[in-house]
Amino acid sequence: MGASDTTTRPAVLILLGPPGAGKGTQARMLEERFGLVQLSTGDLLRAAVAEGTEAGQQAKAVMDAGGLVSDKIVLAILRDRMARPDTGQGVILDGFPRTEGQAAALDALLADQGLAITAAVSMTVDDAAMVRRVAGRYSCATCGEGYHDDFKHPRQGGICDKCGGTRFQRRADDNAQTVEARLTAYHAQTAPLIAYYGARGVLQTIDGMDAIDAIAAELGAIVEKATA
Ligand code: ADP
Ligand code: ADP
Ligand code: ZN
Repeated sequence: MGASDTTTRPAVLILLGPPGAGKGTQARMLEERFGLVQLSTGDLLRAAVAEGTEAGQQAKAVMDAGGLVSDKIVLAILRDRMARPDTGQGVILDGFPRTEGQAAALDALLADQGLAITAAVSMTVDDAAMVRRVAGRYSCATCGEGYHDDFKHPRQGGICDKCGGTRFQRRADDNAQTVEARLTAYHAQTAPLIAYYGARGVLQTIDGMDAIDAIAAELGAIVEKATA
């Protein structure tokens, strides 16, 4: 057998779940542990909004209202990010794909690059918990580390565990009104992807109501098994 038989392909892990499921929290932990790169379309879109690019200007109103940004804009942003050289070890897609159109486009993009989906992990949380997760969410303004008013405090009050930063921020769309719209968008447009990946044989389901560390262990096992 040639050397290529022992070379594993870069992992492509999809985290599927409603707002507040824990996708971002887990993606950052997987980045640290496995050297994978987190690709969060939400983060990329917020950066485009902050930079005031044309795509960002179009996306802003939709994001403020809790709807889904057009596939065209999201796919352009995702393709640009995937083309950067740091994704070689593999990627964690956090919050992408969110529509069947995006899922089909991702299939085509991966096929082009000779890549395949390692696993699409559906993280389930009930709607009431999700609202509470989102309402209490905040993050370090310096490094982006995520925290929660009830569930995840910095070890030392007011100081980020990761970078020592002391400024924190909350997202404009993490308010009760927008959360309803985001949840509706999730059920209508994103939840069907659970069946989409089920049919492709790559679906795994994780109970997103478990503790952060328990979920991290489960996801770690999925990645280890897939890349062993
Ligand atoms: P959450 O992690 O709470 O689900 P995200 O940061 O992933 O939130 O997304 C925030 C907002 O950005 C979404 O409500 C939506 O407007 C937009 N967005 C993010 N990813 C996508 C995507 N793949 N397709 C369309 N819109 C997206
Ligand atoms: P998503 O990216 O899916 O929208 P986040 O990872 O941002 O979700 O998590 C939403 C909020 O819930 C954050 O404040 C985070 O600290 C907290 N959180 C994440 N996972 C859990 C968990 N398993 N149990 C309790 N709180 C959690
Ligand atoms: Zn920080």
